[in-house]
Amino acid sequence: MEFQFDLIVVGAGSGGMAAAKRAASYGAKVAIIEVNQIGGTCVIRGCVPKKLLVYAAKSKKNMDSSGGYGIKSEGISFESNTLLKNVREEVFRLSNFHRNSLNKLNVTIFEGLGRFTTQNELEIICPKTKKILKKVSSKKVLISVGGKPKKLNIPGIELAWTSDDIFELEKFPKSILIVGGGYIACEFASIFSNLGTKVTQVIRGQRLLNGFDEDLSACLKESPTFTEINIISNTQLKSIKGVNGNLESTLDSGDKILTNNILIATGREPNLLPLNLDFLNLKMDGKYLYVDQLNQTSNANIFAVGDITNRPNLTPVAIEQGRVFSDNFFNDQKRKVNYENIPKAVFTIPEISTVGLSEERAIEVYSKENIKVFKCKFTPMSNTFKEKKSKCMLKIVVNSITDKVLGCHMFGETSSEIIQMVSIALNAGITKKDFDITMALHPTISEEFVTMYG
Ligand code: NDP
Repeated sequence: MEFQFDLIVVGAGSGGMAAAKRAASYGAKVAIIEVNQIGGTCVIRGCVPKKLLVYAAKSKKNMDSSGGYGIKSEGISFESNTLLKNVREEVFRLSNFHRNSLNKLNVTIFEGLGRFTTQNELEIICPKTKKILKKVSSKKVLISVGGKPKKLNIPGIELAWTSDDIFELEKFPKSILIVGGGYIACEFASIFSNLGTKVTQVIRGQRLLNGFDEDLSACLKESPTFTEINIISNTQLKSIKGVNGNLESTLDSGDKILTNNILIATGREPNLLPLNLDFLNLKMDGKYLYVDQLNQTSNANIFAVGDITNRPNLTPVAIEQGRVFSDNFFNDQKRKVNYENIPKAVFTIPEISTVGLSEERAIEVYSKENIKVFKCKFTPMSNTFKEKKSKCMLKIVVNSITDKVLGCHMFGETSSEIIQMVSIALNAGITKKDFDITMALHPTISEEFVTMYG
């Protein structure tokens, strides 16, 4: 059977674009279907615009706390409308950059929603009119439609924002209630609070950032940023009601909180519904599409990468999955994605970064008597003249039998830049002795990684 394309990619996010570009570079005839702006979550409503907001929050925090350095901050104002407009313009520029690079590689871009009609054919639907704009066919189809925010099933939920809505705002609210204690909740709590919005954060458990090393969660909670946030633990949001242009949140304790707005950040889920997959009976992995090591679904023609697969939902993972898929199926390579030692960061102020096993997880895997932990916590030199001094923390988790470093964790400024490098060392199977024989670079924060002795 003749097909129009060798590969159709559904979803022009990080993973989809990476696969499309790589396959096209090998000479494959490739099309990509996208209903929104080219770029996906990371470029349009995730990592990129969020990090720009983080830079704004850091700039403001630095100015507000630089009196000890002789820098006067009186008269400095913050206009959130300028920031949000500039962020949107940058996102637009980046989206066009990606569109142009797809064009240069002769990847055909179809605008609309992709919906399967057979395993090799899709309809492209206009999201507004629901009319079928086109039918396209392909030898292989890669699904890379990403995720969407999970909404709570409570009365009044339609009044609350998700993280997608933040980037559409004209200006920041004066007060906000944020539900959740994960990546998105903590990053936005930090951005808003440092830029002058009064933040209340509601978490259903006891700690922020479950799953991260407990010392990292504790450092975050004690930091000047988070001590200014009203964190309400061990509770859930029960309902939301509009009151004179504000929103009233009722918690399960019965307490009521009035804020301008509410942000729900309780996780994300695969966005599979519009694809009309049911008739294909693809094997599922919980709420995710099942894929094997080659990112092949249970249908040999259909592949999936990114946040619709049950792998770490992170941009670099999706990009690598996309590239490996194209290398294998359009250039006859035998590559596999390396899921070991994936570095992670939460861009709070200061930020949290981590690679490898947390102390808790290392104990679960190797048992307590086989684990040695090296840890230091101190006020970094950059905070010497600041009124509110944030501490930093570095931690190494070691297998005491083999001396192998199992995990490195860091709380502090630029820790993400440091942990990226540490992840290379962990991938190479570094031991604690290798850390110890490495010369320190002074005066830095990261030198503590090579000067912590047992
Ligand atoms: P997370 O999974 O990180 O956090 C979800 C939070 O919501 C947790 O605190 C969880 O609590 C809480 N929660 C879940 N369900 C409920 C509920 N029904 N009621 C109350 N609280 C609830 O999800 P995010 O939305 O923050 O982020 C989604 C994903 O996006 C991340 O996992 C990550 O993969 C990616 N991401 C990565 C970033 C980065 O790399 N810097 C930045 C932003 C997102 P509990 O802990 O008790 O389960």
